[in-house]
Amino acid sequence: MFDLSEKQREIRAWAREFAEREIAPRAAGMDKVGRYDRAALDAMFEAGMMGLLAPTEFGGRGASALEYVTAVEELARCDASTALVMSIHSSLCVALLAEHASDEIKAHVLPELAKKKLGAFALTELDPTTPTRAPEEGDHFVATGTKMYITNGPIADVIVLFAITGETAVEKDGKVTKRDEMSALLVEAEHADGFAPESAGIKIGLKAAPVGKLVFDGMRIPAAHVIGKRGKGMRMALGVLDGGRIGAAAMAVGIGQAALEASKAYALSRVTGGRPIAKFQAVQLMIAEMATRLEAARALTYQAAATMDEGAPYGEIAAQAKLFASETASFVASKAVQVHGGSGVVADLHPVERYFRDARVTEIIEGTSEIQKLVVAGWELRG
Ligand SMILES: Cc1cc2nc3c(=O)[nH]c(=O)nc-3n(C[C@H](O)[C@H](O)[C@H](O)COP(=O)(O)OP(=O)(O)OC[C@H]3O[C@@H](n4cnc5c(N)ncnc54)[C@H](O)[C@@H]3O)c2cc1C
Repeated sequence: MFDLSEKQREIRAWAREFAEREIAPRAAGMDKVGRYDRAALDAMFEAGMMGLLAPTEFGGRGASALEYVTAVEELARCDASTALVMSIHSSLCVALLAEHASDEIKAHVLPELAKKKLGAFALTELDPTTPTRAPEEGDHFVATGTKMYITNGPIADVIVLFAITGETAVEKDGKVTKRDEMSALLVEAEHADGFAPESAGIKIGLKAAPVGKLVFDGMRIPAAHVIGKRGKGMRMALGVLDGGRIGAAAMAVGIGQAALEASKAYALSRVTGGRPIAKFQAVQLMIAEMATRLEAARALTYQAAATMDEGAPYGEIAAQAKLFASETASFVASKAVQVHGGSGVVADLHPVERYFRDARVTEIIEGTSEIQKLVVAGWELRG
């Protein structure tokens, strides 16, 4: 087991106690109706879970990456949708604002994001051939376009929106060409004219997490709401996505852990042919492989977080952790269904069918497995 410090172990124990008390009892019900329970979100804010990554001077806990991943893992062990809501709010929205926003913007939004307001990160386009544009008009940017699959989007108070704000001249081989410049803009949903959030549809997994389609139709965003440098949006997005991938890996490890625990308990209690199925070698082999792969995924995830905490380059190990942990979660959850036999495929009997559906989605979010492989190859093959 990775050597966690006393403080890291304390945060893990605190997150486990919170998740088992506040989140686990709601998980199956939220999955069934496909809606996030506001009371669960309020409990997360009240406990300080949503402020984990916010700096202490803005009312957050200023947690390290390793402390943060243990909390995400514990939330996902009880409910992966909750882990998604919390991790996108924290490692994409809050982290980007804390790293890049002006002092005024930080003072304006970070204390509320730590205590009561929900954040989102809107990068993915409905149609990448017609990206969201927000040209400057006077003292405002005017946003038009549709973002898709935005976690927390339908209910978020604060959205980091990536949009094309103009063109920039690029010189290459003596030739000057123009290229779109992408900026990150702060959107406050309460100023909602020209903004219509809706659900992205019913998902196969992570059903309770609010994931939306955000339609911008001439929404006016004050010019002062540019986050960081104008035109540097993509660089900022890619930067926080490296950290976000470690959170997504932790989420996958948490789902895998839940699936393994459920399988062991079931194997020890289910009796066929006069013996608990745990006595059959075929079942033992499945449990052994699940436990081994999961431990490797956890070690890689913690190593990625520790690398981030050290301040060393972590882009490659973050992509490796996300790739390996999400595919491991799918493997472990699929074997968990197998261990449960017929009862593994029936909703409401055992939670493993939920773990199976949730795990599958972790291979898509925060960059598909293919994209993680491209990132890893890019690092490995650098000249
Ligand atoms: C539950 C959920 C929550 C999400 N939350 C957010 C969020 O909060 N914010 C946000 O901005 N986005 C979010 N997303 C979007 C998510 O990041 C994207 O769906 C994901 O990165 C894939 O992008 P895409 O859907 O556009 O698929 P596409 O890019 O169209 O990919 C389709 C297929 O083509 C492959 N492919 C695409 N490009 C390449 C390439 N260059 N090389 C090789 N293969 C390629 C992909 O691997 C995939 O198999 C969320 C998605 C889901 C499902």
